[in-house]
This record gives sequence, structure tokens and C-alpha cells, in this order.
Amino acid sequence: MLNQADKTILNSLKCPLCKCPIDINPVKNYNYGCALDPTHYRVMFDYTLSKIKYQTFSFCVGDNKYIITINDFGQPIGFKTEIFFKKLDGNGFEIDSNKEKRIILEGNLFDFTNFIEEKFLNRIHTILAFN
Ligand SMILES: [Zn+2]
Repeated sequence: MLNQADKTILNSLKCPLCKCPIDINPVKNYNYGCALDPTHYRVMFDYTLSKIKYQTFSFCVGDNKYIITINDFGQPIGFKTEIFFKKLDGNGFEIDSNKEKRIILEGNLFDFTNFIEEKFLNRIHTILAFN
């Protein structure tokens, strides 16, 4: 059951990519997603803790797809950010799973409320360069 605080949090969430609100979308381990296209943005909201447990954001640039998941494990672990990097063919399909790269880092490294493609890409490229 949603209380007012939960509603406020959920109503404030928007898809980073298309800025649509999120809607109930129970798929796999998520319960909310972008109302336009849940593949953009998915959220697992934990009603018992009144917070987002994890959220995943996907975007494509050229032949690359970037999938960023931020997990909030709570204390003492805190946040972890996972980045998937995939190569796509001309139709947007993944070319070769061997070309995938997956990195897990400490902390909450991306602000999904303020998505600026160039900024995200710069950060991802910096992270890839050092991992
Ligand atoms: Zn969207």
C-alpha cells in the first residue's frame, strides 16, 4: 500500500531519457518503469523501506548501448553502480556478448534526474579508461 511519502517519491521520478513519468510495470525484478518505454528506465521501489532499492537506465549512442544500474544496499554497503557496455549492429541488436564490458563501482555515480548525454558519456569513458 502506497503512503503519501512513497507517492511523492514515485511521482517525482521521471525517465531520464524521454522525461515521461514512471508507471507501475512489474517486469522481472522491477516494479516501475518509464510510462512510454520501460526499456529506458526501470525502478525497484521498496515499499517497506520507502526508497528506491535499485534503478536501471539504458541509452544508446551510435553503435553503443550503455546500461547503468545503481543499487542502494543501505548501510554498511551503501551504493554500487554497475555499468554495462554493449556493441550494437545497425538495427540496434547486440553484436557479440564477448564484446560486452561490465564494471561495478562503489558509490552513486550518476544523477538520473539530470541526464546530459555528453556528461554521462564522458564519465563512462573515464571509468572505462581506468577499469
Ligand atoms: Zn522513457
